Amino acid sequence: MQLTSHRYTKGPLKEFDIVVVGSGLGGLLCGAILSKEGYSVCIVEKNKAIGGNLQSFERDGVIFNTGLHYFGSGDKGQFIYKLYQYLGIYDKLRLRRLDIDRFDIINFKNKEYPLAQGLENFSEKLVKKFPQEGRAIDNFISKIKQVGLSGHYFNLQTFDPDENPVIFNPLRAINAYRFINSITSNYDLRNVMAGLNDLLGGPKEKINMYILGMIYYTFIQSAWRFVDGSSQLAENLAGIITSNGGEVLTKNKVVEFLLNGNKVITSLKTNQDLEIFGKRFISDIHPFSTIELLPRDTLRKAYVDRLKGLENSDGMFTLYIILKPDSFPYLNYNYTCGLTDDIWISRKSDDIWPHSYWFETPATSHSGDFARAVTILSPIGFDRFRKWSDTDTDKRGKEYEDLKTSLAEKLLSRVYEQFPALKSSIEKYYCSTPLTQIDYTGSPEGSAYGLIKDSEEPIKSHVLPKTRISNLFLTGQNTNAHGMLGVSTGALITIAHITDINNIIKKIRDAG
Ligand SMILES: Cc1cc2nc3c(=O)[nH]c(=O)nc-3n(C[C@H](O)[C@H](O)[C@H](O)COP(=O)(O)OP(=O)(O)OC[C@H]3O[C@@H](n4cnc5c(N)ncnc54)[C@H](O)[C@@H]3O)c2cc1C
Repeated sequence: MQLTSHRYTKGPLKEFDIVVVGSGLGGLLCGAILSKEGYSVCIVEKNKAIGGNLQSFERDGVIFNTGLHYFGSGDKGQFIYKLYQYLGIYDKLRLRRLDIDRFDIINFKNKEYPLAQGLENFSEKLVKKFPQEGRAIDNFISKIKQVGLSGHYFNLQTFDPDENPVIFNPLRAINAYRFINSITSNYDLRNVMAGLNDLLGGPKEKINMYILGMIYYTFIQSAWRFVDGSSQLAENLAGIITSNGGEVLTKNKVVEFLLNGNKVITSLKTNQDLEIFGKRFISDIHPFSTIELLPRDTLRKAYVDRLKGLENSDGMFTLYIILKPDSFPYLNYNYTCGLTDDIWISRKSDDIWPHSYWFETPATSHSGDFARAVTILSPIGFDRFRKWSDTDTDKRGKEYEDLKTSLAEKLLSRVYEQFPALKSSIEKYYCSTPLTQIDYTGSPEGSAYGLIKDSEEPIKSHVLPKTRISNLFLTGQNTNAHGMLGVSTGALITIAHITDINNIIKKIRDAG
């Protein structure tokens, strides 16, 4: 499988209309849309492979995803479908829809609850499990619908980017945990409603209803896995940029922005001593890292202090398991298991680990009834990894390797409680920690989903795409929201400050 197809330009480059730092989903989408609209684009990526959390990797012929495992709203007429139709790549993506009656199963206190696709189906399946709770379930679904309808770009509505109703959405100020508690006193149902918590990117004290509602809304619309890995999306987006005459440079870490006397960025420099000139710059990397690329005192101290005071979501401990052939079934759904009697993650709960896990058998073009791999994710705090913060990949020594093994075995022992057949099916496994996330994406403390969008401080914790530097814009999971939907709508929010977004929205709306 071809994972990178991009050239590493060493010679002088022309000035680009748009230079993007980082080739994560947000950077590639901004680049692909703008190059389709006639802008010359250059993407600059530090790694050998593009994609950030879209990267997949291969071990012994088995493909694993590192970040984006499944996504929603990919059916005809839905947002992701239309967006990729507009870009001309939807038909090139190899996708598999998850089971209609259970895209995810939530296990809480050893009982299983299916989350189904389709709002009515979702409600019906949940009411079957909680027959006395029809009203609470209706209230939950009404709120999810309200969130879905308020996502303006998601619904492909046009608007003035400076009065962005997505960013200033009042649902961002509603705490999801408290909302769920207000609609039902049934303890098990509360936990099932919070079941996708491992995907939300924050503790219960902070998760806002906009994020929770959007995640439910998108998967209830339709839920999809990539077949043979998510990096195909990165490759296709990069293909749009290069086929329109743009550049996708890998193995070039951006180390510095250069500004003129008017505080306008004129170029950036990479660790390969390449200087790339541009009219506008988009940063798809963490805002903490973006600040480091600018000369001191370029941004107001109050802005920098506010940004640096923001909290990141937890990282993940991930197990990538290669299975013995024909030994473990392919499951066309995900499985989320709460391991304590409170499924929500609280900031103080890191001493209880694993607190929960998320389980999938990735889809491959070879798998029939049997899976070739299992991926298991479990959120984990950074403290136990902190002492290796300044060390390099593969040079962390025996203590780190022993820690990884003990965490893996601890997690597996809990997973065997639900999947006893897994034990004899494992050929070998690899694991990654928040330090791996730092190595690959540069996300501070290995945070999986970036900055927490805090329900208690919705404005303060929101990083806007526009900065005080007139030609520098931010995108990616730290701006609007994380995940396929959050980052894709975020890319539209970012480019709204660069081009006529309403015209693009109309084209996406008409795309299929
Ligand atoms: C474990 C995990 C599981 C997830 N599961 C799902 C899921 O199932 N569904 C879903 O929708 N979402 C999921 N997500 C979230 C989703 O993958 C991310 O929100 C999204 O991919 C982030 O995209 P981004 O544009 O912010 O860029 P990132 O993916 O953060 O990429 C940033 C890029 O910038 C590069 N970079 C950093 N510094 C520099 C520099 N100085 N110079 C040049 N390049 C630089 C990095 O190498 C990287 O390639 C998951 C995330 C994780 C971590």
